[in-house]
Formats: sequence, structure tokens, C-alpha cells
Amino acid sequence: MTHESLRDLLPAYALDALTPDETRAVGAHLETCELCRGELAMLQETASQLAGAITQVAPPTRLRDQILAAVHPQPRVIAIPRDWAIGLAAAAVAMIVATVLTAARFGQEAELLKQRIAAQEHVLAILAGPAAKTTMLTGSIEAGVRFVYDPARGEGALVVTDLRDPGRQLVYQLWLVAGVGPESAGVFRPAPGRPVVIPVRADFGKYQAVAISIEQAPFGAAQPTTTPILVGRI
Ligand SMILES: [Zn+2]
Repeated sequence: MTHESLRDLLPAYALDALTPDETRAVGAHLETCELCRGELAMLQETASQLAGAITQVAPPTRLRDQILAAVHPQPRVIAIPRDWAIGLAAAAVAMIVATVLTAARFGQEAELLKQRIAAQEHVLAILAGPAAKTTMLTGSIEAGVRFVYDPARGEGALVVTDLRDPGRQLVYQLWLVAGVGPESAGVFRPAPGRPVVIPVRADFGKYQAVAISIEQAPFGAAQPTTTPILVGRI
């Protein structure tokens, strides 16, 4: 396996979520690759912070220093494992690390960072619930869009990792679909290079599906005006 493919396994390795063969392959590679060792240390730091429920606004100084030391001269975003089966939790950790890296590199406002981390912690909290479910949205376009939800607690989130730009005058609108008619759950635009999380609070037992249609920016529509491009059963 190459450095690139082994690096993609690091989030899952940090969470002990790999097969024994993969664990051995990553372990052997770590002995020879300083870059991956640095990245693993960062992932473990992030994972342990999550376990301790972070409340701080900005990344702690030590983590920030580690990130800046580990970052390449060229911009780079940690790839989220394509194989969802590798572990939802691993993907969530990778998303958080990608956010911290992006924010540290471009010096974005602490408030924005706080919002993104809060959104991603929301996803992780949902996935941690024993009743958590996830559904892949499929339809007329290629996309990486999943809906995670916990019916017992009424908490959910749309996680958008790959979706093309809808165009300047348009937005995507998320719908909760019940027998009577779809209810809007918000509008959003994808962000290149990072995941977008749209929190949704609802009594999911009332609905049969979630759907996404393309509507007019900035507010969307009261009812869908176009055929949904992506649908997932819940
Ligand atoms: Zn490596």
C-alpha cells in the first residue's frame, strides 16, 4: 500500500477501527514515515479531546503548534475515507481535523471555527447514540450526501461531503417528506474542500424520507418547485 492510501486509514487507526491486517500495514508504515506519525499524533490528540467533550472556542496552543508543524507548504486537505464502512466515527474525526487544519492555515475567525466544530460535534453526538441511523441519499446526480439521525432523541444532520455547486442564483433545499407533503428543513450551498453539516431536529417517526431539490437563492421555496435530485429513505 502507498503512503497516500495508508494515510487515509489513519483516522480509523487512531480509533482502533481497522482490521488486524490493516492495523499491521499501518503500523509498519508508521515506523518509516515521519509525516504519518505526526498526523497520527494529531488525530489521537483530537480524538482524546472529543472524548473529553471540548468546549473551548479555539484549538489549544499545543494542538495548533502541532498542526502548523505538520502542515505541508502546499495546501492539503485530509481525505475523508471513501469507504463509509471504515467507520462513521473515523470520518467524523477526519472532518474535525480537516476543519481545524483549514482554519489554522487560513487564519479564519474563531467564531466560524466554533460553529463548524459545534456542527461536527453534533454529528458525532448523533452517531454515538445507540439508536443512531444513517441513510445515503441517491438520485439523478453523483454525490456524497448522507443523513444521520437518532429517532429516539429527534436529532439529525445532513452531512454533505461531495456535491456540485448549484449555480449562483440557486441553493439546495432539504425536505422532510411525510404523507401530506414535504416540509423544509433548510437551505444550503456546498463548500469546496470541506464537509457541510446541516443540523435537523424533528420527530423522524413522522417522515418516510429526506429529499433535496434545487431552488431559488437565497431562501428556497415553501414547497419544492423542482423534482428532487437526491432522496434517502428514513
Ligand atoms: Zn506515510
